[in-house]
Amino acid sequence: MTDTTTVLVLLDHTPDGALRAPVRELVTLARGLAGPSGVHGAWAVDGVEPSAEALADLTALGVAHVHRLVTDADVHLTAVLAEGLASLLDATGAGLLLATSSFENKEVAARLAVATGAGVVTDADALDVVDGQVVAGKTVFAGTWTTRCAITTELAVVTVKANSVAVTEAETQAAPVVGEHAFAASPAATAVRVVERTQRPDSGRPDLGSAHVVVVGGRGTEGDFSQVEELADVLGGAVGATRVATDEGWIGHDAQIGQTGVTISPRLYIGAGVSGAVHHRGGMQASGTIVAVNSDADAPIFEIADFGIVGDLRTVLPQAAAELRRLRAEG
Ligand SMILES: Cc1cc2nc3c(=O)[nH]c(=O)nc-3n(C[C@H](O)[C@H](O)[C@H](O)COP(=O)(O)OP(=O)(O)OC[C@H]3O[C@@H](n4cnc5c(N)ncnc54)[C@H](O)[C@@H]3O)c2cc1C
Repeated sequence: MTDTTTVLVLLDHTPDGALRAPVRELVTLARGLAGPSGVHGAWAVDGVEPSAEALADLTALGVAHVHRLVTDADVHLTAVLAEGLASLLDATGAGLLLATSSFENKEVAARLAVATGAGVVTDADALDVVDGQVVAGKTVFAGTWTTRCAITTELAVVTVKANSVAVTEAETQAAPVVGEHAFAASPAATAVRVVERTQRPDSGRPDLGSAHVVVVGGRGTEGDFSQVEELADVLGGAVGATRVATDEGWIGHDAQIGQTGVTISPRLYIGAGVSGAVHHRGGMQASGTIVAVNSDADAPIFEIADFGIVGDLRTVLPQAAAELRRLRAEG
């Protein structure tokens, strides 16, 4: 028997055992929905255990139980992780699983749904329980519609977009009970073997999918991303790109934002030399504040921009970076 007041949160973590930033949002959200049994966290043990910093975070955020998911198989395989979570949901009776909206987690959510019959909403930006039913908010059709989706199944699985929730700490804080949940992955889940894994070199910038600020370069950069990067670094933001820029090889495909790239919802999006084509909008229209820098006053991006600057990005971006530095220096 599942219960929506028992909420399980997938605790995405870094290779050094710290919580990934959007997980804090999930726990904040879960705390508002959870009943007396509190918020449960699932830590997939991939050779990395929760660090002291992660345990302090989980205490401050009010996670009651941390379940270490332990298996002989590779938990980075989505099929394996889905089986582990299905077995943990069963053991805890949790009626709601929350995960961050990464590509991997959306696949895990889909596999979980197939295995358990759960209803799934991906890329949610709000969550509520109404008359015992989980209701998720989500923007669709390239950010043009805001919807509310009620999950009518007993078990609900929701992936939540980063920057959807303001993180708060729990009023009462106690160290979580850390336990082990061992499971055996099926032969089908382990039919794939990872032969090599290469960690992406650290750019020193925040992750594109969860950054608060994203500065995006399009065709207007003509391949020179230095001014886009400079502004991103002054703002502590991530660098993104349109498909034109990634197809041209000016920047890696993992920086592409849009329908066939990453979906982002930062607090601040700055598009430079970006026309605002519908395929690009689909991945950024839910951003908090949209700033556009474009030399063409008729560029479609100005239709959705909160602030627009008609000008050459090669002049505007360095000016903006210099002004921000000056203001910082003044304190
Ligand atoms: C099936 C499909 C999927 C797609 N998926 C994606 C996707 O996921 N993401 C994506 O981004 N696109 C995607 N596209 C491509 C998309 O349709 C557009 O072609 C693309 O987004 C345009 O990129 P852009 O804005 O960089 O280039 P353009 O549309 O060429 O716009 C360049 C802009 O830069 C401005 N400009 C030029 N010089 C300067 C300057 N010096 N200073 C300031 N402004 C300047 C111009 O005025 C212009 O508005 C997809 C297309 C298809 C068919």
